[in-house]
Amino acid sequence: MSRPLPSDVSQFYAQKKVLVTGGAGFIGSHLTELLLQLGAEVTVVDNFLTGARQNIAHLTAEVIEADASQPVETYLPAQYTPDLVFHFASPASPPKYQAHPVETYLVNSMATHQLLQYLKSKAPKARFLFASTSEVYGDPQVHPQPESYWGNVNPNGVRSCYDEAKRLGETICGVHSRDFQMDVRIVRIFNTYGPRMDLEDGRVIPDFIKQALAGQPFQVYGDGTQTRSYCYVDDLVDGIILLMQKDSAKGQTVNLGNPGEFTVLQTAEVVNRVSAEVKGVEPPSPPPIEFRPLPQDDPLRRRPDIQKAKEVLGWEPVISFEEGLKKTITFFQSRQG
Ligand code: UDP
Repeated sequence: MSRPLPSDVSQFYAQKKVLVTGGAGFIGSHLTELLLQLGAEVTVVDNFLTGARQNIAHLTAEVIEADASQPVETYLPAQYTPDLVFHFASPASPPKYQAHPVETYLVNSMATHQLLQYLKSKAPKARFLFASTSEVYGDPQVHPQPESYWGNVNPNGVRSCYDEAKRLGETICGVHSRDFQMDVRIVRIFNTYGPRMDLEDGRVIPDFIKQALAGQPFQVYGDGTQTRSYCYVDDLVDGIILLMQKDSAKGQTVNLGNPGEFTVLQTAEVVNRVSAEVKGVEPPSPPPIEFRPLPQDDPLRRRPDIQKAKEVLGWEPVISFEEGLKKTITFFQSRQG
């Protein structure tokens, strides 16, 4: 936890029965860890397509190996009715979701439907939180992106199995909130990094960390002027915990991310500097860069408008990019042994 959460937060979570789909993933495992610290009884559902048992091996959560796109009755014990459901199952890195397009669109659409229908009949008072994404904004024409922006998405592009499925997931949440009066909340997660990311998942932060630790050039796609805004995972998970807990967040869609914006070239510079600091050596100057083709439909700019998170949750990130990178690189260095 990056800061002490208010005492009403642990009171809220203590002894709650909490289901986390995707609990063995990068964000899901950090969320599961914090929920357990807050006294919740956590059941993780994960099919380990992109999650890893190693991420939760140190945790006491119950683990069910299953695909959340299947009917809920096929994997949850009949007597189990959760108080809270965090639906976080999904591949999330562009190379990974493009390698698993069917699983990706099903887990964000069909699984959302299955879970909400199950709750509707078995636990209509349960709270449901859907992990959506900044990718619902596509290649945004509004900058920074507030929740009121409808986005600019290619409906049949290489990223659509993910971003259109997340948009449909949001639609399914909206139907269950409006038409069936269920308690549904949506978080739009912007680029997040931290310990336990999959170093092989092809995203920019793990790629650059891997390259820096191996003393290899940074592989920059395109000319590196495209931007992203990176949030440290502890900050993100604090915001998610508050979004589920706050009564006033019922039915709300909230961006969570760090508004600090970096070009990909600046990202390489910071990773270059911080990884040299962690290794105790002088950073190569200038950072070694190799340019590679820009992937199709790669968004040019991305930065969250977090005004709503500040107002509804009283939340904003507190960990700087350098501080978070230091923790992350230290984690991966120690893992490499
Ligand atoms: N990128 C890069 N080198 C890499 C991986 C990604 O230059 O090894 C770029 C990618 O083209 C994109 C940005 O970094 O512009 C962020 O990519 P990522 O895959 O992390 O996630 P996205 O935000 O695109 O979903």
